[in-house]
Amino acid sequence: MPAYQKACQHKVLQLEPSAFAELAGYERPDSRKRLAATTKSGRASANREEKSVETAATAISKSFPGPLVLPHDDLNYEPNWPPQSLRSWLHEKERNKPTSKRKTLYVAGVPQITPVMAFMDEWTRPKIEPAPGKDKDESSEIEDLMSPDTENFVNYFGAFYHGMPVKQFPRQLKWVRWKGEGKASSKASSIPKYVGLGVGDKTTRIRARPSPDGLFKGQLNLDDILDAAIDMLPDDAYSIILIVDHDIHEGEEDDFCCGRAYGGSRICVVQTARYHPILDKREKIDLGHMWPASHCKDYIDGLCAVEDVEPEPATKVQIQASQSGPIRAAISAASDIPAPSTTEDMRALWFARLARTAVHELGHCMGMDHCVYYACNMQGTAGMAEDGRQPPYLCPVCLGKISYAVACELQHGNEEDRKKYVRDRYVAIVEFCERWKMNSLFAGYRAWALERLQEIN
Ligand SMILES: [Zn+2]
Ligand SMILES: [Zn+2]
Repeated sequence: MPAYQKACQHKVLQLEPSAFAELAGYERPDSRKRLAATTKSGRASANREEKSVETAATAISKSFPGPLVLPHDDLNYEPNWPPQSLRSWLHEKERNKPTSKRKTLYVAGVPQITPVMAFMDEWTRPKIEPAPGKDKDESSEIEDLMSPDTENFVNYFGAFYHGMPVKQFPRQLKWVRWKGEGKASSKASSIPKYVGLGVGDKTTRIRARPSPDGLFKGQLNLDDILDAAIDMLPDDAYSIILIVDHDIHEGEEDDFCCGRAYGGSRICVVQTARYHPILDKREKIDLGHMWPASHCKDYIDGLCAVEDVEPEPATKVQIQASQSGPIRAAISAASDIPAPSTTEDMRALWFARLARTAVHELGHCMGMDHCVYYACNMQGTAGMAEDGRQPPYLCPVCLGKISYAVACELQHGNEEDRKKYVRDRYVAIVEFCERWKMNSLFAGYRAWALERLQEIN
């Protein structure tokens, strides 16, 4: 890690959208609208004075800052994405309510590569040259990292979607030969046109091709994998997530896709390949400024300068708000974690990223749309660098949806039960993160959740 990154103290925090946001055409819902978005009626009580709404909004930004909206972020490309309030989520026709008969989240672990398909193993590893100065042996240890264990996902979902049962899908998925395999798409690539995804005695045809950017030898068609997922859906499933080690793409034009959900159909897929820590250099990921340190004003100013946005000096309010609160606590905790160096650290980093994406896709299965109110786990993302800057937590609007779905719809509780649910869920998240505190994302999340708990108690 370059010395200047280590030296950055993240002194002033960026808790509002960046100075670039305006240029991008993003207009954040104001504080009254944000408040109203958390209520079932969709209204903020009219007799609350403007000043008290503003004061509350400033206070809450120390826990829940605004989306950063940096150049090439999702909100740069989609600045007018429609907000989904709690009220609009409640009335969403496509949304599946969890019921006592359909409440289980299933996790299907990575399909096993059967011996006849041994060539598919190579497809999971990116084709990159070892870094200059490092010989092949040094980097191959990272290259050969095993993708995270399914059990880790099961445990994380259990905390994040506290109250919903989570189970590993009982059957082992397998990559098998597709009978009418078809000619290889081109001789040089020797990629079969189709491979088979086997579940029990059923096999689904999956289209294959080389990845257009040349990073992976073989890439699989996401829609075909989703077809297999629909067929697998157990009767008691609220939803199912498939984890694949191969690079995937959606449609002919698409280069690649990291994960995708068809929420109404209760299915989603996440790939591990593009999240491999070995790709960080290529993606220009600044490990010292991933969440929570992504809210460092100096870092944000640097990224906005690329678009000729002059940095504004820190205001008194900004300096004041940077001293304490959950985001500050998260940064302090994450800063204590040394940069990942061992293979164990690398695997934890890989898992942390995937865990964040996986709960996002499952969030779509819960009927949640991309969030435009706050920095939030449900924000849309336009690339790996942005992915690393986004938080693992749900903002007040999105948390309102999950707490309502679980505490009220599934458990038939009232508003008091819903408040208790929010506390219990944070406790479950703290317990989970406790076991993963060697990783800066989880260490930060733990510190953040502990502060939140104190605030709401
Ligand atoms: Zn999404
Ligand atoms: Zn949100």
